[in-house]
Amino acid sequence: MEKFRYHRKHLLKFLKSKKANFDFESLYIHIPFCKKKCLYCDFYSVSDKKGSIKNFFDSLKAEYEEFRSLTDLSSIKTIYIGGGTPSLLLPEEIEALSSSIFSFNDFEIEEFTFEANPESIDLAKMVSLKKIGVTRISLGVQSLDDEILRFLGRIHSSEDARKAAREIKNLGFDLNIDIIYGIPGQTFGSLVDTVKQVVYLEPDSISAYALTVKKDTFNGLPLKSSEAYFEEYLYIVEFLRKNGYRHYEVSNWAHDGKESKHNLNYWLRKNYLGLGPSAASLIDDVRFSNEPSVTKYLTNNSAYFLEVLNEDQILLERFYLAMRTSLGFDISQSVTLNVEFLKEFVNQGLLEVSDNRIVPTDRGMFVLDSIVASLIA
Ligand code: SF4
Repeated sequence: MEKFRYHRKHLLKFLKSKKANFDFESLYIHIPFCKKKCLYCDFYSVSDKKGSIKNFFDSLKAEYEEFRSLTDLSSIKTIYIGGGTPSLLLPEEIEALSSSIFSFNDFEIEEFTFEANPESIDLAKMVSLKKIGVTRISLGVQSLDDEILRFLGRIHSSEDARKAAREIKNLGFDLNIDIIYGIPGQTFGSLVDTVKQVVYLEPDSISAYALTVKKDTFNGLPLKSSEAYFEEYLYIVEFLRKNGYRHYEVSNWAHDGKESKHNLNYWLRKNYLGLGPSAASLIDDVRFSNEPSVTKYLTNNSAYFLEVLNEDQILLERFYLAMRTSLGFDISQSVTLNVEFLKEFVNQGLLEVSDNRIVPTDRGMFVLDSIVASLIA
């Protein structure tokens, strides 16, 4: 797929000329600062603030206002502030996000998520989050084994995580907890202990991600075998099911009604606007992402990488995204699938077909990429 590089002025001109549909369902805001880079992290963030937060906020406001010149953004139903580490912001900076830039209270928001790390979230910040309308906090716990946290390069302790989770619940936010599995050197028992303790904290939803790194080793240790990943994944699937969490997406579980609306919008391929360095946006057939550079972002002259998808590409993307979820894909949409493989995957217990939909099973979700690749080959 050909990618184009546009500066903001040209991007906006292009979108206007296409008479694009600016009814964004979701808004994502990327806060690209972290205290220290974790060893496994692939997200765009920098570990020094490269100028003040005030300058960053000025650029965020400039970007936001330029998109607002195209649309009033009143269709936005979900907001997600992610990073990076948004909880590095001070209480007054959190409130300034709303009072000086976005006026969050003007949106008719159904869900407003804020990402936090255990070491940098506290009561004062949570009070500010309440004030600006945040409904859900996603806490980057990753493990409740202190040795494993150090091995991952995290700077919080398991006690920091437990304390933050309890305070988030006490203040009445919906709580999502992120954990990682497949960590080299972590025993099965240590993973089991983390999962049990996480459930004991009673989060509304849980995200469990497989550690993925591009090399064969991580922090001096060889990666785990795919069988070991699968064993840990199956344990998580079973234990969370027994405890009332529904597996609604490859890496996500929730109590009924507590699924992330914002992320579901991504998987249902609804339009979204992303602001901040590296943030991605989707408007129907146009996808663009902001250059991952704080330095350039501060000059208000960063570039966007843009691609325009044709009908077939959109349909395939819809297929792939829908297959990530427990809703599955409606077969009556005209994607040409390899029927032999489809039958084979159903026989192997990796897919189910019912009510005209193909739905991945728990085992199928673990190998989804190869299933999808075979089905559309
Ligand atoms: S805190 Fe999160 S975003 Fe920051 S480096 Fe660690 S994993 Fe990456």
